[in-house]
Amino acid sequence: MLMKGKKGVILGVANDKSIAYGIAKACAAQGAKIAFTYLNDSLKKRVEPIAAEFGSEALVYPCDVSNPQEIKDLRIALEKDLGEIDFIVHSIAFAPKEGLSGRFHNITKEAFDIAMDISVFSLIEVTKELKPLLSNNSSILTLTYYGGAKYIPNYNLMGVAKAALEMTTKYLAEDLGKDGIRVNAISAGPIRTLAAAGIGDFRFMLKWNEAHSPLKKNVSIDEVGNSGMYLLSDLSSAVTGEIHYVDSGFNIMGMPAVEFEEG
Ligand code: NAD
Repeated sequence: MLMKGKKGVILGVANDKSIAYGIAKACAAQGAKIAFTYLNDSLKKRVEPIAAEFGSEALVYPCDVSNPQEIKDLRIALEKDLGEIDFIVHSIAFAPKEGLSGRFHNITKEAFDIAMDISVFSLIEVTKELKPLLSNNSSILTLTYYGGAKYIPNYNLMGVAKAALEMTTKYLAEDLGKDGIRVNAISAGPIRTLAAAGIGDFRFMLKWNEAHSPLKKNVSIDEVGNSGMYLLSDLSSAVTGEIHYVDSGFNIMGMPAVEFEEG
């Protein structure tokens, strides 16, 4: 039981397809006690039964990260119900649909601000608010995608947000290392989830990743979950500021291995 005695909060479960759900399963299987948050009332109905699966029916809280008061209220509730915590999972992203297809230069400031606020600044704000609860051997994990490092068709605004999120991970890691807090990101390969449904031509991304990754397959939320559990547990006690790819190796490819006819 690699996470026995560890307590933490997972932000970003929307349903049982969510990457955060895969991470919850892997952590619970190793003995972790997990609190969950939900974005709004319609997702509350989905998250509550999921929390019950893990024996966490009393540990489900609202938290829309665009509302600073809800993050403050989350800290108060967690302090009361769990006391000290050992991990935080930030598995949250949002960009208005107009930022996820079409010509990049048409992105509006309004869409840009929303994407950066919810997908990037929220990691800083959640960290700042929950820091007083974190033990001096704790771990924070966020989720990113290769579109934050290299151009991916249609990923557009979210690519810029993920680039900012990856650097936020590194700056937070340096800042919080002295407090015994590690901060890492998993860069997951494409997975069919609610959030992914917003990205233009997502099916093509899945097909391309499967065809051109060394392992010739797409990744599952269970595979991301297992790697997430490693980064949240003491197995990774000397790992921080890392962008850990869980993408069937896709990111190492400079060129697809295609055979051309001679001549
Ligand atoms: P998902 O839709 O299951 O999860 C996204 C979560 O963000 C949802 O739970 C949603 O409620 C939450 N959210 C959105 N706005 C919020 C707000 N204002 N306050 C609080 N929560 C809010 O989809 P997912 O694919 O599991 O996404 C989780 C993370 O993984 C995201 O950061 C996403 O960018 C990242 N990611 C996804 C993929 C993929 O292909 N699915 C690949 C790499 C990284």
